[in-house]
Amino acid sequence: MKNFNDLNLSDNVLQALHKKGFEAPSPVQELVIPLLMNTDHDIIGQAQTGTGKTAAFGIPLIEQLSETSRYVSALVMTPTRELAIQVAEEIHSLKGWKKLRVLPVYGGQSIVQQQNHLKKGIHIVVGTPGRLLDLIRRKSLNLDRITHCILDEADEMLNMGFLEDVETILREMPENRRMLLFSATMPQDIRRIADTFMKDSQTIRVRGCETTVAQTDQIYFEVSNADKFEAMCRIIDIEPEFYGLIFCRTKVDVDTITGRMVDRGYDVDGLHGDLSQMQREKIMDKFKRRHINILVATDVAARGLDVQDLTHVINYAIPNDPEAYIHRIGRTGRAGKEGTAVTFVTPAESQKLKFIQRKVKTKIREDKLPKIREVIRAKKLRILKEVEELIASGSFDAYTGMAQKLLESYSPEQALAALFMHAYQHELDRSQYSEIRGGQEKIDGQTRLFIARGRKDGMTPKKLINFIMKNVSVNPAEIQDISIQEDFSFMTAPFKVAEKILRAFRGGRGKRPMVTKAKGKK
Ligand code: ADP
Ligand code: MG
Repeated sequence: MKNFNDLNLSDNVLQALHKKGFEAPSPVQELVIPLLMNTDHDIIGQAQTGTGKTAAFGIPLIEQLSETSRYVSALVMTPTRELAIQVAEEIHSLKGWKKLRVLPVYGGQSIVQQQNHLKKGIHIVVGTPGRLLDLIRRKSLNLDRITHCILDEADEMLNMGFLEDVETILREMPENRRMLLFSATMPQDIRRIADTFMKDSQTIRVRGCETTVAQTDQIYFEVSNADKFEAMCRIIDIEPEFYGLIFCRTKVDVDTITGRMVDRGYDVDGLHGDLSQMQREKIMDKFKRRHINILVATDVAARGLDVQDLTHVINYAIPNDPEAYIHRIGRTGRAGKEGTAVTFVTPAESQKLKFIQRKVKTKIREDKLPKIREVIRAKKLRILKEVEELIASGSFDAYTGMAQKLLESYSPEQALAALFMHAYQHELDRSQYSEIRGGQEKIDGQTRLFIARGRKDGMTPKKLINFIMKNVSVNPAEIQDISIQEDFSFMTAPFKVAEKILRAFRGGRGKRPMVTKAKGKK
């Protein structure tokens, strides 16, 4: 294995890598960094998720771009806004003291704000094709001085219906820019893009190393949002020594869940971006020393947390993309011990789970939630074991007097049973658990919508959102799971938003409305 020192990198980048805790280059990095730094080839990289592609192109960008330039020099296209943010953050964290500015741009965020940032001078723009094109059309993003163009997760951009936008952007690029294309798979359309827009390209292929994932037992439970909390309590309570991280989507969720767990008597704390650095460090420290055995966090807040040997990672909210999934569950099962990664999936999220499973290329198996009776039984066994350990330790002399006193009047069985009740009555009380109705009930608060336009009408996810927004004022972030088919499309929206959309598209006299509720389950 090579060392970063062998790759001819500046002290600045080497220091940044050290700070990030990267010890050695990943196989993709070993191949791509020298190609980018020492040759003129365009690069096609076929590699799975989690193989370190961002740093593979990010490091050469940092080394090669000039901080004195007032123009955008590098453009990275990603399929989703989460990826745009992640890529921008990863590059940012590698740039050391070099004054390069990186900006993520994506739909759903104020375009004016992005335009203002661009005016101030940005070196690397990372964005989704739709928003990039928008900024180009508004003349806020000038491609004339681009020296590097990177297509990240090209196959996903294709799946999301961004192909046309990508091609339009590529056509507007200067002739002599360097181009990189990363993709886990190489469908025909991606090949064609490579053939059309790349010159003298080198292809590299790398198999992902699945070591972190292989050590982890990956299971999922189908539960409704309403049942998640109860399900989580059972999973924790049935474990003899739970030591785990619970991932939520938002800060508010972190606070709510932490609060409910505290009420239920868990040793838990929550971590999110609103806490001061000092507070965060204090909480992380408590968790590392195991003064608390449960930490609830958002992805962002958990980023700086290097804990090992977690018994569990619980995805209370399913992660948005496969990267986040790998990143989250990579924290379990280190040092030869097997960990468990639990993912809660609501009925509406089953497609998302399939997508993650496909990308991560491991089986996430469905499991049944423990029954209340099983949880109580596990707790009883644990209590007995603890008492036995205490007896073995022999350090209870201070209490023998009390024991003798009881045994003067009662049988040992009576005395012990009363004592157990005194100590564990609450902990063994079934009524603190509530029934779980199972995941079959209606999708909580969401409606699947049918749109009578499809690919053959030129529909793309981006166009679909624009089309809806032209007619109704809705927050585009609330429209999810868009699926474009040949003759029609689907999307999911929260119940209230869906009602609003349906109202706006109510058909005219005798006309079939353009948007209707989807028939059947989904
Ligand atoms: P990909 O784009 O191939 O899916 P990423 O670039 O997102 O992968 O990297 C996945 C994770 O691995 C990130 O958390 C990143 O910080 C980390 N990583 C990347 N390169 C290294 C390395 N050389 N050593 C340790 N961790 C790394
Ligand atoms: Mg990536």
